[in-house]
Amino acid sequence: MEVASKPLSNSSNVVVGANSGSANGFTTRASSINRALDQIGDKWCLLILQEVFWGVNTFTPMLQGTGASKGVLSDRLLWLQNIDCLRKDCSARHPVYHLTKKSIELYQNGLMAMVWERTYFSSPELDKVELVHNGCGKAFWPVMQCSSCDDAVRSKDIQFSPGLGAGVDQRVTKTRRRSSTTSDNQNHSKTLYNNLINLLGDRWTANLVALAFHGLKRFDEFHQELPVATNILADRLKLLINEGIFSQQPYQHSPLRYEYHLTDKGRDLFPYFVTLLSWGNKHCSTGAGDPMALTHNPCGNPLKAQVRCNQCFDVLVATEVHFKL
Ligand SMILES: [Zn+2]
Ligand SMILES: [Zn+2]
Repeated sequence: MEVASKPLSNSSNVVVGANSGSANGFTTRASSINRALDQIGDKWCLLILQEVFWGVNTFTPMLQGTGASKGVLSDRLLWLQNIDCLRKDCSARHPVYHLTKKSIELYQNGLMAMVWERTYFSSPELDKVELVHNGCGKAFWPVMQCSSCDDAVRSKDIQFSPGLGAGVDQRVTKTRRRSSTTSDNQNHSKTLYNNLINLLGDRWTANLVALAFHGLKRFDEFHQELPVATNILADRLKLLINEGIFSQQPYQHSPLRYEYHLTDKGRDLFPYFVTLLSWGNKHCSTGAGDPMALTHNPCGNPLKAQVRCNQCFDVLVATEVHFKL
C-alpha cells in the first residue's frame, strides 16, 4: 500500500516555533506516554523488562532471551539502573538484576501487552502459558476496568483534556544509547509479547499510535505533534499499515491524500498505552502535575484504570501472579 511519502504542501509551516528546537532536539506537547517511552520504550529495554518479569535476571540467560549483543545488553542494563528500573545485586557469583518499586509498577503494562499479543498472535509456546492469580487460585485473564464504575476501559469512552501539567517537553532526537539492529529473539521459547515489542519498541511508531488515540489522522497533524524527519514518519506510517494497526482512507483525490485510522487491532492497544500513561504520570513527572486529564465518559469520573483478574476482579500486582506452563 502507498503512504503519502511527503507531507502536505503547506507542511513547511507546520513546525511551529515551539517545535523548532535544536539540531539534536525538539519539543512536543507534554505527555506522560512520551516520557515513559523515552525512558523504557526502546525495544531492548522492553525485552529486558519482559525477561525480568518472567524471572530471567542474570546476564547470560538475558543475552539468549533478548537476542541482544553483549554491548547492547550491558548498555541497556546500565541505563535501566540509571533510571531506577533495575537494581543490581552483586552478592552472588553472577550479578542478579531485580525489579525496583518503579519497574514493578510496569507489570500491568506487561499484562496488557500480553493480552494484546494473545489476541492477535498465536504461538505454541505462549498459548501454553497459563496465568494464575494467587489471590483466588484460579487461571485468569487480565482485564482493564474503571475503578469508579467497573466498566471495561475502551478508547471511545475516554475524553482527553489538558491537565495541570500541560505544556511542552524538550526531547532529544537521538538517544545516546547505542542501538543494534540484530535480534533473534523470535526464536526464544519464553516470549510473552515479542510481536508487540517488535512493533512498538520504536518510540516514533509508539508515539504515532498514541497520537491516533487523540484523534489525529493526517500526515501533517502527526508531523506537527511529532516533528521528526518526514521520511521517518512516512516509514513508520507504512509499517503501521502493513502491521494492520492503521488503515488508510483517502480524504482527498487530487492530489491523493490519505487519513490513517486505527483498526480494531490498533484500538486494542489502548489499555497498553493507558498503563504506560499512568506509569509515566507517577514515575516520569516533572512536578508540574499530570499533562493530561482523562475522563471516563460512562461515569463522568476522572479515569483511574485498573488491571484486574477476570475471575475475582481484584487488582493484579506482580507478586500475586504466576505463570504456569
Ligand atoms: Zn467509569
Ligand atoms: Zn483472581
